Amino acid sequence: AAWKKAVLSSAARQEGGQLTVLVTGAAGFVGSHVSLALKSRGDGVVGLDNFNDYYPVALKRARAANLQKAGIFIVEADLNDRVVLSKLFDRVRFTHVLHLAAQAGVRYAVKNPLAYVHSNVGGFVTLLEQCKNSKPQPAIVYASSSSVYGLNSKVPFSEDDRTDHPASLYAATKKADEVLAHTYNHIYGLSITALRFFTVYGPWGRPDMAYFSFTRNIVDGQPIKIFQGPHGEELARDFTFIDDVVKGCVASLDTALPSTGSEGKKRKKAQFRIFNLGNTQPVKVGDFVSILEKHLKKKAKRNVIPMPATGDVMFTHANVTKAQVALGYNPSTDLDTGLGIFVKWYKSYYKHGGEHEGMLKGYKPY
Ligand code: NAD
Repeated sequence: AAWKKAVLSSAARQEGGQLTVLVTGAAGFVGSHVSLALKSRGDGVVGLDNFNDYYPVALKRARAANLQKAGIFIVEADLNDRVVLSKLFDRVRFTHVLHLAAQAGVRYAVKNPLAYVHSNVGGFVTLLEQCKNSKPQPAIVYASSSSVYGLNSKVPFSEDDRTDHPASLYAATKKADEVLAHTYNHIYGLSITALRFFTVYGPWGRPDMAYFSFTRNIVDGQPIKIFQGPHGEELARDFTFIDDVVKGCVASLDTALPSTGSEGKKRKKAQFRIFNLGNTQPVKVGDFVSILEKHLKKKAKRNVIPMPATGDVMFTHANVTKAQVALGYNPSTDLDTGLGIFVKWYKSYYKHGGEHEGMLKGYKPY
């Protein structure tokens, strides 16, 4: 009963709010930021996360504590748990699902392929089934990835480009999700928007990603590995600041049309959209390290090595015209500014020993 009350009050529409959103992966990097953004403008938000230990769970707990302080109820469960999902949807009439839970990371997939199949394929279909069977069916916005462009050599990447050559198992599962999403859209009338994120970085970020581990190594005086292509080319990434991605997610939810229902012949065509959410300014990893050195006021020990065959692509570069037109998406944070904000957060995090309360003290994401 207490659970029911808490879920309902967390999901209750506040004054001025419009949406009732289930955010999966709410204790994750992007999920925690978007949940707070939605809650702070008055939407009803319930978060779901399994708090897996792919990277330090303390960081997920700290993000979740932030959300709970803001009045967001967090359900600790795996996406594949059909019983929990159906109880949750019985209690709350979600207008929208923002699905961000996934097994992320390209390199971890080499040794842990089934973790990707479990969360990104099994978990995704479990959630789609739940949405399909719910009345009303919520509109779904979910995280795809720039990795679906794979070994595409055309730049910048546009949504209509080919995506049939993934370079990693992570990318393959994200591509599979787009195919599954399209299938659920045209068979069951689910409204679905796929957002292809490009290397998102920022405060409360992911310790497994290069911007975070490079920062850690530079601070600790440890060498960093910079990958180089077979002809000495440098890797480049279209680093995108978290606030820009949050705005893109919120605008996608706001412009999502309702699902049209799953009633056999009566079904009507539902909305299906795919958008790039990138920064449109790819930066070579060497230049990225120089910006980090400037903010950290410390030189990196650069160890340039040939790129291992772990599934990384050489470059990413988003064309965001489609999102600009449909969502009003305009990435406005350059890498220098964004990394400055990240470094400031990073230092305060370690100043407080990476501890739960210490992380929350003196820092408010929104
Ligand atoms: P994250 O790992 O910080 O967040 C994902 C969260 O999902 C985690 O808290 C994790 O515990 C949870 N989760 C994973 N599997 C789950 C399961 N089976 N059941 C319940 N919860 C589960 O990652 P993020 O950077 O916040 O990424 C969010 C989404 O965006 C992911 O789908 C990711 O693939 C995608 N994406 C991220 C980036 C990026 O640069 N951060 C780039 C492209 C795509």
